[in-house]
Amino acid sequence: MGHSLFLEHHKELLREATVIAEEMTSDFYKLTPNCWRRARYDILTLEGLEQDEISSHALALVAKYRGCHRDRVLKSAVFDFYRICLQDHNILKALDSCPDLSLLPLLLYIITHELVHVVRFSRFQALFEAPEEQKNEEERQVHLLTQKILKPLKSPELPRVMRYYEENRQGGWQYAHL
Ligand SMILES: [Zn+2]
Repeated sequence: MGHSLFLEHHKELLREATVIAEEMTSDFYKLTPNCWRRARYDILTLEGLEQDEISSHALALVAKYRGCHRDRVLKSAVFDFYRICLQDHNILKALDSCPDLSLLPLLLYIITHELVHVVRFSRFQALFEAPEEQKNEEERQVHLLTQKILKPLKSPELPRVMRYYEENRQGGWQYAHL
């Protein structure tokens, strides 16, 4: 294994990418803090994942769970939450195999892409459990939206990430019901 977990310098870039991705996504969807609260999510790296959340090929996946407020049995106290599961090992492998890629823009793309999934699931614009062809169409939509969201950054490195995504789309990103 060896080089398969994010180290401190990777995590620093991850924090940076997360701030930018959340800001760009909020701006795009005009999300208020209240909307974000409704779309509950965590962003985790490999060391924080459950066995079922680890993928052999995806760079990241979204897992959906049902939560329940403590001390309450009312139905309205039930809520959905999402775990954005970053697959350190596959992300590092992608960087190794593709010298054109660098970590910050790659993470920026991945996190924005997964946040778009979360926003769309929580607004019921996409169904978490959908037939395969619908999932493929959703992936296409999410990719286009991610491009649109990140465009104002005018990052010279993002087009390379987009190309990588388009060439490795099979299994590069996925969402899974756990
Ligand atoms: Zn996706």
